[in-house]
Amino acid sequence: MQLYCDSLTEYKRLATREVRIGDLLLGNFNPIRVQTMTTTDTMDTIGTVEQSIRCIEAGAELVRITAPSKKEAENLLVIKNELHKRGYKTPLVADIHFTPNAAEIAARIIEKVRVNPGNYVDKKKFEQIDYTDAEYAEEIDRIRERFTPLVKICKEYGTAMRIGTNHGSLSDRIMSRYGDTPMGMVESAMEFLRIARNESYHNIVLSMKASNPQVMVQAYRLLVNVMMDEFGECYPLHLGVTEAGDGEDGRIKSAIGIGSLLEDGLGDTIRVSLTEDPEFEIPVCRDLVKRYTNRQSAIDNSQWTIPALTKIPYSPFEYTRRNTNTVSNIGGKQVPVVIADFMKGETIRHEDLQSIGYTYNTETDKFTIADAAADFIYTAKKQLGFALPGTLKVICDHATWLQVTDKEKYYPLFQSTEYLKSTDHSGILNFVAADVNDPASQELLQAIRKDRTVVLCLYSSHPHAMPSVRRYISDLVNQGIACPVILAVESNDTTIDEQLIHFSTDSGALLLDGMGDGIWLMNEPEKIQNQKVSGRTYLETKNNHQFINNTSFSILQATRTRISKTEYISCPSCGRTLFDLQETTAKIRSVTHHLKGVKIAIMGCIVNGPGEMADADFGYVGSGVGKITLYKGKEIVKRNVDSAIAVEELINLLKENNAWVEK
Ligand code: SF4
Repeated sequence: MQLYCDSLTEYKRLATREVRIGDLLLGNFNPIRVQTMTTTDTMDTIGTVEQSIRCIEAGAELVRITAPSKKEAENLLVIKNELHKRGYKTPLVADIHFTPNAAEIAARIIEKVRVNPGNYVDKKKFEQIDYTDAEYAEEIDRIRERFTPLVKICKEYGTAMRIGTNHGSLSDRIMSRYGDTPMGMVESAMEFLRIARNESYHNIVLSMKASNPQVMVQAYRLLVNVMMDEFGECYPLHLGVTEAGDGEDGRIKSAIGIGSLLEDGLGDTIRVSLTEDPEFEIPVCRDLVKRYTNRQSAIDNSQWTIPALTKIPYSPFEYTRRNTNTVSNIGGKQVPVVIADFMKGETIRHEDLQSIGYTYNTETDKFTIADAAADFIYTAKKQLGFALPGTLKVICDHATWLQVTDKEKYYPLFQSTEYLKSTDHSGILNFVAADVNDPASQELLQAIRKDRTVVLCLYSSHPHAMPSVRRYISDLVNQGIACPVILAVESNDTTIDEQLIHFSTDSGALLLDGMGDGIWLMNEPEKIQNQKVSGRTYLETKNNHQFINNTSFSILQATRTRISKTEYISCPSCGRTLFDLQETTAKIRSVTHHLKGVKIAIMGCIVNGPGEMADADFGYVGSGVGKITLYKGKEIVKRNVDSAIAVEELINLLKENNAWVEK
């Protein structure tokens, strides 16, 4: 075991206990199961049955349904019977918050219950309480008393359970002792897990969800570490990034969180929470999982072997950015840069730069620069025939760079062997591309050690790509080499979702561990032009640069390494939802998308919403039919606003708090 996984360099799934959910086996190297959750009202039996069927037909192996009170829990029997009547025996999961009596009913009816340890017994008042150890132990006794009956029912009925911690809904008790931390999330689940183990009940799955992929990844890793320390074994892991949002951003956040863990062999089941219809989540889950189906055989056939990492020079439980030299505007304390790849194509015109954040005005002969504007453009063998905006610089091949007169604006890209042989280097900034598996990349280490003009552009041709790059960067740290690193990722995948997942996992996982001073994404646009995802056209060939640029900035935003736009934390909606979440999210996004760095939560219900909106700056929360309650942080500022004017009121709230700027 390497801190939290079997190997940081080989692909090995983590051994976990086997859990039975109806006829479905999970954990213990069974296939990674995919699941989702309905968004219908649980009392709407036919609506829920039909939506469940759409999810099952899309490939869901488990379907979760909310049970906010006893009556919904009882209706699960009607739903289950109707599904069976129609020939669908997929296991169902009851989603429980606050209501042990609903859980106890559901556990007798369906295959699995999910409890949230943050609110199963505790009520959240956002209070800081100083507990003595004796008082804390008394609280645990109180939880034991309230939770044990459910454990006994699950044991008797063969029902499985997920102890599902959410970063945003930790109890006041946990928050008071551990704070809003990954360790608090782990301890929240461990308190419940210890009680279940004492009853010799083991049919348990665990989750550590957060809307921030960094917190989520650290919490899962820490959970494995703590379980191994305390029990010498692990329970299966249900992976998910909660309130990830919709569209590309939802997919990118989910892929960074879930993909980073799957790369290290963690995860027995996954759910991608999108603010979209639940059946649209399943193809994304499948795309995430299928990256690992043939991973081992591809590794076996690879010409390269990744050497074991014996000295881990970073903490996987805590974010620290790797210390790097400042080379021009790259590395040091500067935000990661974005490189736009214009290698293909004959000419580059003023108007082509619009797709990477620079809009040219012919009348003024000036560019307007967007917040998400690329920092470098790679032109390969081309020189540009016009003056560039001040913040954009050019990378070109070394041979071309030798012909260029403007050496302040143009910088050379060397292949590693070329750099080793050549003496014609830039005095300011030299990019050196290296495949981390190639022996030449090892020779580079000595050559670049003292060269404070070098920025490495690292890529990997190994099928276990991300760990091989992580291995190489770890070597840099272990050898005291501080040159900045650009993460170069190429996707030849044939769908947009696959490309998003590939880019997000392979660069996002490294950024979460503090590795990477820039990002350079490349693809084959012909493969994905005009594809539709969730009914929307994402891409036409002409704006592939925009797709890549948006993806780059979204990955940096999701890893919180560079903030360039508004952040939305929107719940996926469920049977508790009190308004049309998809429509409202789109409406709020259309008026606030220019508010760089502001975090806005859009949550379907007042029961869970305020707790789960984590570190949002402002919250828009359904509080009754046609009623919205607005929050500033965790504080209610406008209660029960008519939904017809709630978006306007949100804008007023943003204005009152100096968070608004005109477009
Ligand atoms: S916050 Fe959203 S997903 Fe969570 S319980 Fe409320 S409506 Fe359902």
